[in-house]
Amino acid sequence: MPTDLDIARAATLRPIAEIAARAGIPDSALEPYGKYKAKLSQDFVAEASARPAGKLVLVTGISPTPAGEGKTTTTIGLGDALNALGSRTMIALREPSLGPCFGVKGGATGGGYAQVLPMEDINLHFTGDFHAITSANNLLSAMLDNHLYWGNELGLDPRRVTWRRAMDMNDRNLRDCVVGLGGATQGVVREDGFDITVASEVMAVFCLARDLADLKARLGRMIVGRTRDGKAVTAADLKADGAMAVLLKDALSPNLVQTIAGSPALVHGGPFANIAHGCNSVVATRLGLGLADVVVTEAGFGADLGAEKFLDIKCRLAGLEPGACVVVATVRALKMHGGVAKADLGREDVAAVERGVVNLARHVENMHKFGLPVVVALNRFTSDTAAEIAAIQQAMARLDTEAILCTHWADGAEGAMDLARAVKARLDRGAARFAPLYPDAMPLAEKLRTIAREIYRAAEVTIPAPVAQRLARWEQEGFGHLPVCVAKTQYSFSVDPTALGAPSGHALPLRDVRLSAGAGFVVAICGEIMTMPGLPRRPAAETITLDAAGNVEGLF
Ligand code: ADP
Ligand code: MG
Repeated sequence: MPTDLDIARAATLRPIAEIAARAGIPDSALEPYGKYKAKLSQDFVAEASARPAGKLVLVTGISPTPAGEGKTTTTIGLGDALNALGSRTMIALREPSLGPCFGVKGGATGGGYAQVLPMEDINLHFTGDFHAITSANNLLSAMLDNHLYWGNELGLDPRRVTWRRAMDMNDRNLRDCVVGLGGATQGVVREDGFDITVASEVMAVFCLARDLADLKARLGRMIVGRTRDGKAVTAADLKADGAMAVLLKDALSPNLVQTIAGSPALVHGGPFANIAHGCNSVVATRLGLGLADVVVTEAGFGADLGAEKFLDIKCRLAGLEPGACVVVATVRALKMHGGVAKADLGREDVAAVERGVVNLARHVENMHKFGLPVVVALNRFTSDTAAEIAAIQQAMARLDTEAILCTHWADGAEGAMDLARAVKARLDRGAARFAPLYPDAMPLAEKLRTIAREIYRAAEVTIPAPVAQRLARWEQEGFGHLPVCVAKTQYSFSVDPTALGAPSGHALPLRDVRLSAGAGFVVAICGEIMTMPGLPRRPAAETITLDAAGNVEGLF
C-alpha cells in the first residue's frame, strides 16, 4: 500500500470552481487561494446558511488507543459514498495544527483513498486561518501589556492576568515565561506563557461564532484577567475586540477543498478537544447544511469527550440537530481495550475482541442517551480476521445496533457504500430525537455531575472547596447558564489513562476550572490538561524535507 502522501500526490485534482459548482456554489462566491482551495464570500455564506437545513451526521469513535481508529478517514469515506449514492453531501472537518504535524507523525486529512486534498497545503499553512488567529491572540496580549505600561487605568492586577500568548508550534520552553524584563523603559514585568494556537480561546470563539458580528461580540467578552478586588477585565475593556475582528475577518470565511473522489469538503477551524470543544466551525457546518442534503462532520477524541462536547456545546449553542451518529471502531483498538499489547495486535484474538467490545458498547449506549440513531463503522485493517469482525457484529446485534464493515481506506467510496446506505436509512426514517444531556439552567457543578454519571459512569465527583467557590462566584456573575467543557484523558472513561475497556464506579476529581466567557463555556479540568505540547525525542520534523524537485517528503 502506498503512503497517504503518495496517494494524495497521484490523485488528479479538479479546479476548485468545478467542485464548487457541484456543491451549488456560484463562481461569484469563490475567493480562490490558488487553483484548488477557495474561501467563500461572507455574503454568500450568510445567504446559503439561511436556507432550509439538510441533515447532520456526526462521526465519533471509541476511546482512542495507539492502534488508531480512523474517524477522519471514515468521515471522508462516508461523505464520498453518500455522494455516490446520490445524496448531495458536504464533508465538514477541522483544519490541522502545525504542532502535531511536526511532532508526532500523523495528519488530519484522512488516509488511504479517503483523503481531502491538497493534503500538503491543508496540513501546512493552508489559507492562513491559524496565522490570523495567532495574530489576533497576540494583538490582545500586546494591547494588554501596553495598557499596563501606560499606567494601567483599568487597575488590572498583573498577577491575575490569565490571558496568554499563542503560537502554532509544539514548544515546551514557552509554556511559562517572564515578559517585560529590562528595566523601566521596557514593559511591566509579569509571568506569562504560550499556548498552542488551537488551545487558545480565540480559536474556540472563532469556531462557535455565527458570523462576524457574533465573533466580535464574543471576542469582546473574553476575560483577560482581574483587578485587585476581583473584577473581571475583558478584551472589550481593553478596546481590542474591534481590531481582533479585523484580523479575523477573512479567516472566518470557510475553506472549500475536495476529496480524492471529488466530493466538496469544508475544512475550517480547529479547536483543541481538551480545553475547547474540538470540532470544526459553526459557520462551516451551517453553510454545509444550507448547501447540501447531508453534512458529515467529525468530533475529536472518543465519543465521551468529542461527541459529548459536540452535542452539549456546539449543537446547543448553534441550534444544530444531528440526525444520526456513526461510532468508528477497529478490531485492533478493541483488542487493546481487551488487554492486548500493541506489538501483539497482528495475531487473531477473538476473546480479546469480546473483552474489549465493552468500550464500543458503552459509547453506543451513551449516544442513545442524546436521542441519536447509531451505526457502528468497523474500519477494516488488513490484519483483521473474519472471526474477530463477527465477534463485534454479534455484540452490537445484542444492542440492536448494526456494525458495518468498511474498507474506504483501501477502496475509497466503494468501501463505505453499506455504511452510507445504513446512515441514509436512519436519516430518511427521521428517528433522531436529539436533546442535550442537561438543561442550561442546571448549576455548573450539577452539569459536571450529570456528565460524570451518565457518560463516564463515575460514582462521584470530588470538588475542592476553592474550586466550588469559583463556580459559585461565576454563577453570581451571570455565567451559570453556560455548558461545561470537560478536560480529561481521552484514553479512558475514567481519569486513569490505563483503565481501558468500560470502567465504572470511579471518582472524577475536579482539579480546577476556567471560564471561557467569550467562547461560552466553563472548562472543568479533571486530570492533566495540555495547552502547549512538547516535541517527542524524535520529532516528525526530522524526517520532513524537500526532494530535489521541490516536493515535500515525509509528511506522513
Ligand atoms: P482519527 O481521525 O480517528 O484520529 P485518522 O482518520 O486521522 O484517525 O487516521 C489516522 C491514521 O490511520 C491515518 O494515517 C490513516 O491513514 C490511518 N488509517 C485509517 N484507517 C486505516 C485502515 N483501515 N488501515 C490502515 N490505516 C488506516
Ligand atoms: Mg481525526
